[in-house]
Amino acid sequence: MYELQEEERMILSMVDSVCTDIIADRAAEIDEQDEFPQDIYDVLAEQGLFGLAMPEEQGGFAVSVNCWAQCVARLAEESPAVALMLFVAAIGADAIMTYGTDEQKNTYLPEIIAGEKKISFAMTEPNAGSDVWSLTTSAKPTENGYVISGNKMFISNAEVADLFCVFAQVDVDGERKPAAFIVDAHDERVVISAHEQKLGLHGSPTCPIFFDKVEVASDALIGEVGQGAQIAFHALNRGRIALAATALGITRASLKASATYAEGRKQFGQPVFDFEAVSFMLADMRIAATASHGLIDDAIDAFVNDARDVKERVAAAKVFCSDAAQQAATNAVQIHGGYGFCKEYPVERYYRDAKAFTILGGTNQIQRRIIADEVRKQFAL
Ligand SMILES: Cc1cc2nc3c(=O)[nH]c(=O)nc-3n(C[C@H](O)[C@H](O)[C@H](O)COP(=O)(O)OP(=O)(O)OC[C@H]3O[C@@H](n4cnc5c(N)ncnc54)[C@H](O)[C@@H]3O)c2cc1C
Repeated sequence: MYELQEEERMILSMVDSVCTDIIADRAAEIDEQDEFPQDIYDVLAEQGLFGLAMPEEQGGFAVSVNCWAQCVARLAEESPAVALMLFVAAIGADAIMTYGTDEQKNTYLPEIIAGEKKISFAMTEPNAGSDVWSLTTSAKPTENGYVISGNKMFISNAEVADLFCVFAQVDVDGERKPAAFIVDAHDERVVISAHEQKLGLHGSPTCPIFFDKVEVASDALIGEVGQGAQIAFHALNRGRIALAATALGITRASLKASATYAEGRKQFGQPVFDFEAVSFMLADMRIAATASHGLIDDAIDAFVNDARDVKERVAAAKVFCSDAAQQAATNAVQIHGGYGFCKEYPVERYYRDAKAFTILGGTNQIQRRIIADEVRKQFAL
């Protein structure tokens, strides 16, 4: 496993303090209120967390992606909705970081890194989810730029966004070519609807957006027309690592809460921890947390080295960690018995939050398909 450097350990310890001193007390309230917690966002921004693993030229901190992922995991132990702030910023900024011009990087990244502007990743549409390249949002070329029209769905933190990284199809001689654009979220022709009432991840608003013939200049295009899929896959790989790390946070939180509860709860005159059926669930959570950490490090190794099999290794981390988190949160509720089913204990929230990670960022069925395609190439063709 990757060993954090001295400076990285200090950053993680700072995040740990923020979690213990501030977020731990707010997590249940964030869930209850289901509003974006701007005060917590401001704390993360003050601590420079949006600059982790971002380019130094634009004000970022040259720490490893592993350090960033460990910070995401630690935040998720308290509140996955808070951890998602780092995920949303990173996946939204990835296109600019990786494919943007120097001008785009210098214009947008310093403000995103400083937490002054929020960027969301707008790809999914009402009728284009897993089959994402059937998307119908169009970017019609004009003399000075493009006119973007279409609907997006389930866009994380859209309600509070300043910018969108939008994927659209450009018609080139009758052929539809995917492309990515930077769009001002405050443009009057960008209509952001109220956030969905979700099972979990309250405090991370997920909204539909309507782009009503939004005019953008030609320098809003990221990379080239036709490069949209490439750009999206790079961003999704970064995002899936963050989602895997968030899921790891849920697994760790489930383990911690359940071990403490199982030691304190007595039935038949002894702690329920003593019963093999309970202690083995805790052992499985520990195994899942360790394996999740290992798979995240492996995915990061593939990502930073641009490995040929990066998609498969990132998909493996995303699938394993999110399935493990769901199982851990289910068992955490079980270990708490009837109390686990009540809001008085945080495991009820972990259970609701965990489900999301098997869906967002590409469902686990789609991740398994990515892996199966590689298996076929390697062994069956
Ligand atoms: C909380 C949340 C936050 C999100 N945030 C964002 C965001 O910030 N930006 C963004 O662009 N999107 C976001 N999404 C959208 C998310 O990425 C999609 O919901 C997801 O990719 C699935 O698409 P869908 O919901 O349309 O499901 P569908 O594609 O309709 O899938 C329905 C079911 O069919 C299965 N299925 C579909 N095709 C196949 C296949 N070929 N093989 C096997 N099974 C298949 C799926 O696995 C699923 O079980 C978010 C979603 C959620 C829930």
